[in-house]
Amino acid sequence: MVQEPLIELEDVAFKYDKEWVVEHVNLAIHKGQFLGLVGPNGSGKSTLIKLMLGLEKPNKGHIRLFGKSVKKFNMWQEIGFVSQKANSFNSGFPATVYEVVRSGLVSRMSIFQLFNQKHKEKVYEALKEVEMEEYAHYSIGELSGGQQQRVFIARALVSDPSLIILDEPTVGVDSEHVTAFYDLLGKLNRERDLTLLMVTHDIGTITSHATHVACMNKSVHFHGSSEDYHDMTDEEMSEMYGHSIHQLSHNHEVTHS
Ligand code: ADP
Repeated sequence: MVQEPLIELEDVAFKYDKEWVVEHVNLAIHKGQFLGLVGPNGSGKSTLIKLMLGLEKPNKGHIRLFGKSVKKFNMWQEIGFVSQKANSFNSGFPATVYEVVRSGLVSRMSIFQLFNQKHKEKVYEALKEVEMEEYAHYSIGELSGGQQQRVFIARALVSDPSLIILDEPTVGVDSEHVTAFYDLLGKLNRERDLTLLMVTHDIGTITSHATHVACMNKSVHFHGSSEDYHDMTDEEMSEMYGHSIHQLSHNHEVTHS
């Protein structure tokens, strides 16, 4: 039996004002995939995420989450989200790592429910998965950008989602820690069977870690496995991107335009 995609977009179009910023987008993310959504700055990636999360409504097309229209979807505990702004706490921020991860459970609980030993174990389990359990009682602001992002992944993991969406999570992570961060995502994808959708402009790095890639510039020009992406000839890339982006992709990084 073919499983329904966790996220499915069908001919989706969206504009904030007069100009279309997302057009004719068809995209499906299946269980177990680690999909890198890449494209230059302003190509509509964050807008697409907002549409998937129901924060904006498409002007055209259909969006389904776990087989249900996004308009009727109510299983939000199945979807974790890590934003690029997560790692912006300064050293004076009062919350501990433990409290930040625990706040991922709070939103799922009634205010009358008390934290019990089971919840504490879940917080530590999530911290262990991102190899940060030793930092539980540190203040979040004391950690580096990369460590903070690991904590925010733990916060997303603590409610046992099937899918985590990450919007440019490596912004603010030191370059020497970026590979370890991708390795962690790869491990969670393989060993925990966690489906991942990661938005990034760094096409060179994502295609060597993600299982699948979607290249976007208003619409999706390529969607396939990372192997298929690497196997494309120069002519196919040129046709897909158009000349200007082809130049950028040749440098193996779609940089900010
Ligand atoms: P990306 O994430 O690929 O950098 P965005 O989705 O943020 O791209 O932006 C796509 C286009 O939509 C850009 O031209 C951007 O200026 C515009 N845009 C983004 N957010 C808004 C908004 N809230 N109001 C109006 N225009 C917006």
